[in-house]
Amino acid sequence: MEAFSVPGLPEIREGDDLAALLAERVDLEDGDVVCIASTVVSKAEGRKAELASFDPSERAESIAARLSDLTGEPKDPRFAQAVLEESEELLLEAPILLAVTRFGHVTVNAGIDRSNVPGADLLLLPEAPSDSAARLSAELGVPVVVTDTSGRPFRYGQRGVAVGWAGMPAARDWRGETDRDGRELDVTVQAVVDELAATANLVTGEGSGGTPAVVVRGWEFGDHAGSDELFRAAEDDLIRAALRKWEFSA
Ligand code: GDP
Ligand code: MN
Ligand code: MN
Repeated sequence: MEAFSVPGLPEIREGDDLAALLAERVDLEDGDVVCIASTVVSKAEGRKAELASFDPSERAESIAARLSDLTGEPKDPRFAQAVLEESEELLLEAPILLAVTRFGHVTVNAGIDRSNVPGADLLLLPEAPSDSAARLSAELGVPVVVTDTSGRPFRYGQRGVAVGWAGMPAARDWRGETDRDGRELDVTVQAVVDELAATANLVTGEGSGGTPAVVVRGWEFGDHAGSDELFRAAEDDLIRAALRKWEFSA
């Protein structure tokens, strides 16, 4: 298996045809998977935003005031409002804003970025990254994974995760298959789109590299059942239930 970046992509602007920009720069083969940073999908979809366009609610004002108190740094209530508008629920309001996005991904600040966003204050995640992936996949004729760099609980450091996917299942279901002892696997569902996203993120990097699209070639899903479950349902999520009850105290 190899993973290589698509060379020479320009700064992406609203309305750009990402599929065409990719297809001009790489000859895709059957079996390839294209992984693309949500940043450029968002730019193409016009998801840049200005702080001034967010009118803070009382809740946003109080979230920002509390964060300012905690950190000793000024916190902009308009940013808190942007996070609220992008979220279905805030699992934590302090000391960080931990959000469930409207499409089900749990991440700090609802994945709103302030880096690699020339000419605007903010970049919101795509509204429905799996729909974005589906449009790209239909044009390119290969599976597409939309990635974001994200922290994960219990671990320092950030990594690439899938926020959307199309053209392949999210996970390989090993249940019912056997291990080397002949023992039946009863819980193993491998979130392959996250693993592909992490692979791609190794190549894209996080800085000014300008390499948001990665082709993974020579990897096979194989002969397994597939599953499209990636974002844990609230009623099936012990950690979310625990966080809802937890209150931060400085
Ligand atoms: P995220 O992980 O999706 O939040 O995106 P990052 O900000 O980490 O950027 C991922 C990669 O895409 C880095 O190599 C950036 O330099 C690159 N990148 C970001 N925006 C653009 C763009 O508009 N055009 C190009 N060519 N590269 C970009
Ligand atoms: Mn990001
Ligand atoms: Mn990144």
